[in-house]
Amino acid sequence: MNEAASPLETADVVVVGGGPAGATAAERLARAGHSVVLLDRAGRIKPCGGAIPPRLVRDFEIPPELLVARISAAQMVAPSDKRVPMPIDGGGYVGMVDRANFDEWLRERAEKAGARRRTGVFAEILRDEAGRAIVAYRSGGASGPVLQIAARLVIGADGARSAVGRQEVPGAEKVPCVFAYHEIVRSPAPADGADYDPRRCDVYYQGGISPDFYGWIFPHGETASIGTGSAEKGYGLRPAVARLREAAGLGGAETIRREGAPIPMKPLKRWDNRRDVILCGDAAGVVAPASGEGIYYAMVSAEMVADAAERFLKTGEARALSTARKAFMREHGRVFWILGIMQRFWYRSDKQRERFVSICRDKDVQRLTWESYMNKKLTRRDPAAHVRIFFKDLAHLFRLVSP
Ligand SMILES: Cc1cc2nc3c(=O)[nH]c(=O)nc-3n(C[C@H](O)[C@H](O)[C@H](O)COP(=O)(O)OP(=O)(O)OC[C@H]3O[C@@H](n4cnc5c(N)ncnc54)[C@H](O)[C@@H]3O)c2cc1C
Repeated sequence: MNEAASPLETADVVVVGGGPAGATAAERLARAGHSVVLLDRAGRIKPCGGAIPPRLVRDFEIPPELLVARISAAQMVAPSDKRVPMPIDGGGYVGMVDRANFDEWLRERAEKAGARRRTGVFAEILRDEAGRAIVAYRSGGASGPVLQIAARLVIGADGARSAVGRQEVPGAEKVPCVFAYHEIVRSPAPADGADYDPRRCDVYYQGGISPDFYGWIFPHGETASIGTGSAEKGYGLRPAVARLREAAGLGGAETIRREGAPIPMKPLKRWDNRRDVILCGDAAGVVAPASGEGIYYAMVSAEMVADAAERFLKTGEARALSTARKAFMREHGRVFWILGIMQRFWYRSDKQRERFVSICRDKDVQRLTWESYMNKKLTRRDPAAHVRIFFKDLAHLFRLVSP
């Protein structure tokens, strides 16, 4: 940085990025009495399907008015166009949020807890003579003046391909990603003749929509998110979404926004620099493989990072930082591992996708899928169901049943 810096602001913690991860970490640490700055670049809505589980709504005390839709069923669509309905029984639901409002609400909650908000683009971490971290950022936007904040700890919550991570945490530059793209459209009126239900998520497992992930139609009340993703470089996501819109009868719906972003597919091996920087959320790679679900995991990882940060601020020991990743992997590592295998196995050809969708007809599979999605833990209420699914899965693997 060549420009002269303004007077130095100081804080215990600077959180870079005010998405679900950063806002949660800032809120927790401010509430615990630490001085916290929450730095976020303004003006961009995070591209996102916005689906969240009830567990998130409960644990993070999200007010019901932030849910723009409550989904009561999914429809899985196979390569053959066979459709498998998956109703959510027992009053469960998938919540839908619009990220512009959801993220701002989380940032405001962090501010109310005592975090100071700053608007600007993170530039780099510098060091003063004592080795202390100095966060340099461009105030207001990419061409604004450079300001600096000295901090005991920096939390990188600046999303996939994190600039904080790339500067400070080895391996952060190599996270495998799916690139996801979606279009926000005006929801059709019931009389429009589209295959659209405002309380149903449609999930397309078709090679023509994605060669290695899936396509989706997620209702958001007055709007809907229609998207797809792929890790294949150069795969035509826009034409794929156009095909998806045509297939659902939404080709003519008014398009409000078109946007895309990478989704990391693997937690980083290390989240911290063994000194005074730690990552959470997409920056740490914590998105569930196969589903691409990242909001819940961003917020949970941020809580664990906030706990580790508290220990670090109390003891000054950098070792305390590594406890965040350990806690996360202990709780979610197994599910991520299983979902990773599922993605590699079931999403690799139309033949496999056809089988996968046919498995979803099974009532045990439906119940366990919804329970584990909604509550983020596998139920032990019916162990026999796990055994039944295990044998049914084997039967599918060895082609003992046809799709
Ligand atoms: C198309 C798409 C659809 C998705 N659908 C779903 C879904 O339906 N459900 C789900 O759970 N997950 C979904 N995800 C994943 C989910 O969006 C992410 O996992 C989640 O947003 C991660 O939260 P985060 O706070 O870690 O990062 P982000 O939400 O990316 O937030 C990062 C924040 O950092 C800020 N920032 C970035 N760089 C800088 C910088 N240099 N300086 C200052 N600020 C900076 C950004 O402005 C942003 O506010 C989807 C992702 C995509 C791309």
